[in-house]
Amino acid sequence: MTQRGDYQYTYTRYRQLLDELTDVGLSFTTYGGNVSEGEVLLRHDVDLSVERAVRMAEIEASANVDSTYYFLLTSRLYNIFNDQTRNRIDRIQSLGHDIGLHFSTHQYYNDAPGDEQLIEDVNTEREMLESVTGVSVDTVSFHVPPEWVLRRSFDGFVSTYEERFFWRDRLQRRLEPAVADGSAVRRWFPRKGTDSRSSGTVGRKRRAV
Ligand SMILES: [Zn+2]
Repeated sequence: MTQRGDYQYTYTRYRQLLDELTDVGLSFTTYGGNVSEGEVLLRHDVDLSVERAVRMAEIEASANVDSTYYFLLTSRLYNIFNDQTRNRIDRIQSLGHDIGLHFSTHQYYNDAPGDEQLIEDVNTEREMLESVTGVSVDTVSFHVPPEWVLRRSFDGFVSTYEERFFWRDRLQRRLEPAVADGSAVRRWFPRKGTDSRSSGTVGRKRRAV
């Protein structure tokens, strides 16, 4: 379980975090291309609220930050073909962000299905999402990823859980010397068993989107 200390999950703090990451020299990129050290891959798997996703996208745009929003086609809470949701996805795209597929294997299989079946089902959902976005959807983030999708790649699309994206330790090594005062950036990437410093206010913990 990830220890997140007392980070406040508010829109205001989120904007501050983006500025702090930029201030320490990091830049933001998306999953489609090569990623260099010092670049942040920022993504949102939209499990709950498309409305809040738009709010996050607007905050990021105002901070000149690019990110990727991953949408489910199997959510009980929103439907990408609903006109309000389509308009919101369009808004996120117009702010300069990428759209990806948030794919729930749990809706299809109890056990690993084999690559051919998985890729076929992912591609079916990709095409449906592309009918909404109007552009090709090349990256996929698995919802509550089962072990069998981790640290591996698939033919035909980029998975956010490919081995090359497991950078946590390298990023942490870069951040810690840069942020020595216990600021939000350090709390965002806590090391287990350290950094218990409190700001005096315990934020209400919830997922932003
Ligand atoms: Zn999810």
